[in-house]
Amino acid sequence: MIVKPKIRGFICTTSHPDGCAAHVQNQIDYVKSKPKLENGPKNVLVIGSSTGYGLASRIVPAFQSGANTLGLFFEKAGSERRPGSAGWYNSAAFEKAAQAEGLFAKSLNGDAFSHEMKAAALKIIQEEMGPIDLVVYSLASPRRTCPDTGEVYKSVLKTTGGEYTNKNLNTDKGLIEEVTIGAATQEEIDHTIKVMGGEDWELWIHLLADAGVLADGVKTVAYSYIGPELTWPIYTEGTIGCAKKDLEASAARLSAKLATECKGGSAYVSVNKALVTQASSAIPVVPLYISILYKEMKAKGIHEGCIEQIERLFRDRLYGDDLQLDETGRIRIDDWEMREDIQAAVAKSWESVSNENFSELGDFAGYQEEFLKLFGFGLDGVDYEAETDSLFAPASLS
Ligand code: NAD
Repeated sequence: MIVKPKIRGFICTTSHPDGCAAHVQNQIDYVKSKPKLENGPKNVLVIGSSTGYGLASRIVPAFQSGANTLGLFFEKAGSERRPGSAGWYNSAAFEKAAQAEGLFAKSLNGDAFSHEMKAAALKIIQEEMGPIDLVVYSLASPRRTCPDTGEVYKSVLKTTGGEYTNKNLNTDKGLIEEVTIGAATQEEIDHTIKVMGGEDWELWIHLLADAGVLADGVKTVAYSYIGPELTWPIYTEGTIGCAKKDLEASAARLSAKLATECKGGSAYVSVNKALVTQASSAIPVVPLYISILYKEMKAKGIHEGCIEQIERLFRDRLYGDDLQLDETGRIRIDDWEMREDIQAAVAKSWESVSNENFSELGDFAGYQEEFLKLFGFGLDGVDYEAETDSLFAPASLS
């Protein structure tokens, strides 16, 4: 089949198997261009491992410290008639590259919130992997079905105060428009916490700890975002921010548990940089902020993508000499994004940005390029006119 991008709003409904493989290979090449990390993790579980930060969190330990990995995700396989989802092809490419280097790499495709997926992961860990020394929790999901009651919780992107209006980039049309975000009800806030908060992360860690499959000194990390004040009403102080606060409370409880039960084990929330991913493109206001941020960070030579962020997180913080925790105990790998000079420049551009000067103040070309790459389009060396194998699948799932 010949696959072309089909963009609908903030998603692309097609993905290119060879392009996704090239995107994964570029990330592997980046990690391999850095020195090995001898004290890095060796047996890793990544929950949400097929795209964005989770995919990078699988690639980094595999190719930085030779880790065996079990990856879990919710993706769609390709068929003879339709391409699969990007995360499916990313995972196929990852497994192929990892297995070529003799690394154990298995995947599970299904709902990470369910009892079935947790049991399936535990079985693989018990029978094929041995004690896990790192668990990365990197889910970004719009809903969660409670495995006990069947109740479906939906997360929303709303404020927790009144209505909020600001500039927004219509990424489909490349136009700046105004967007008004409504206020959430208490029920919507509670549901968002159920989906994107820490409850499920705690369930995973409790299950693994109780089964005795966590190594002494195990680490676990989940990801969060803070960003500048202009995004606070929709992010940090919005419904998603409430869920992230819940995640931080989970980290504190998990750390206390792992410290005693797993001899110095620890749990962290890492605050990461704003980046173009499938999850972030759905958040109002954020894509325009990202376009302006990219422009400033690229100009100063400090722009990073997921792979650079996670490589630095593992090398300098999680497995380095100094975690550099902030006042509330979080890892801040968003430090370059939040640098005073960067934020001052972004705030200045934000004030005056309009459709007339956007190409000067923002890096929309860079935004679009990265967005398309998420789905395997625009990668060097890929022949997009040629037939590609839509049935490409992770070896462990085929
Ligand atoms: P993403 O959309 O690229 O990845 C989400 C992952 O979760 C995928 O692997 C997907 O398959 C998996 N997933 C979703 N629902 C699932 C389910 N029910 N069962 C199993 N797997 C499921 O998202 P991302 O942007 O990499 O976000 C990952 C984390 O990083 C989130 O917690 C997000 O808040 C955080 N974060 C993102 C940014 C950003 O700018 N993108 C910045 C800081 C922190």
